[in-house]
Amino acid sequence: MRRFLLSSAIILGLILNAICIGLSFSVQSVYSSGKITLQPTIVNGYNSSKVVILAFDDSSKNQFILAKPILDKYGFKGSFFTVCNYVNNATAGYKPYSHNYMAWQDIKTLQKQGHDIESHTMTHTNLDTKSIQALEYELGGSKQCLLDHGIDSTIFSYPSSHGDSNTTVVKVVSKYYDLARTADAPLAFLHCNGYGKEKDCRPFNNNNGKLGYEHRYSIREWGHHPHIEGYQPSTNSVVPSFNQSQMFNQFVKEVNSQQNYNKNGCIVAIPIVVYHKILPGNIVYTPNKSSIDVNLFSAEMKYLHDNGFKVIKTSDLGYNQTNNHVYIKQLNSNNNNNNSNAYAKNC
Ligand SMILES: [Zn+2]
Repeated sequence: MRRFLLSSAIILGLILNAICIGLSFSVQSVYSSGKITLQPTIVNGYNSSKVVILAFDDSSKNQFILAKPILDKYGFKGSFFTVCNYVNNATAGYKPYSHNYMAWQDIKTLQKQGHDIESHTMTHTNLDTKSIQALEYELGGSKQCLLDHGIDSTIFSYPSSHGDSNTTVVKVVSKYYDLARTADAPLAFLHCNGYGKEKDCRPFNNNNGKLGYEHRYSIREWGHHPHIEGYQPSTNSVVPSFNQSQMFNQFVKEVNSQQNYNKNGCIVAIPIVVYHKILPGNIVYTPNKSSIDVNLFSAEMKYLHDNGFKVIKTSDLGYNQTNNHVYIKQLNSNNNNNNSNAYAKNC
């Protein structure tokens, strides 16, 4: 969660209008309700299928009020990562947005309507600095808290991405969860080989027991931050920003980057886009914050719909103990399946 929000100029409204007018994409998607069916597109001569996960962290009420109706419009299901002590709590969290969290009733509604509810700790604390007892409370406690509300969470996300490279933290995470999400990279690689350091998704090296860089408990997400060429937080005193149009263009680039990897229906890389606050307008996008204008969110969902993306949930991901890969549960793993209807498969 980022705490920086910049108030913006009226001109952004004009820019936004220009974006919306410019968004006329062909509608090609017809989704089946059961198994995952994907629309193939031809990229560089290969069939390509496009998948995306939409995650929502921190239990903000505005996700329920502003984002859910847009998800509903397109039949998309989100993955909501819950901070147990924020729920029903009017005073928790970062100022100045600390007075508006979901109620358990909202979360039950999301669950009933097929959205994915997962864990994001009890208090949204920095896990890197915690004792074993505190880690047990944050990780085991949030698992139990959700269970007490009829929700069996198997996936975890690290608050502010702290703890994913800490052996003690990962060991406690692994006691309670199958997978965990962290920042920040364009794609989640299902074989954990995307960033060049690992052979599979086991967290600890078989030979020396050391915690790896990319594994089942550090599945990469993209926090909807602008990536601004040449910007270094340590050396640039002025934080650069994107306007709505630039941010939309980056989103499009981000969700399409999987086409470099998912060839011939083999799904090996998925963008996991993480949203935080959904706000009713006037946002400037900077690398150190992650709120989004509801109108841009709407444009992004329309883009996914109109361009045949299949939105899956984090709970659609499983872990294969034999090959130590993450996989998509509804897809088969038959590499020899040349059936033209089977566009997508685990490979
Ligand atoms: Zn968070």
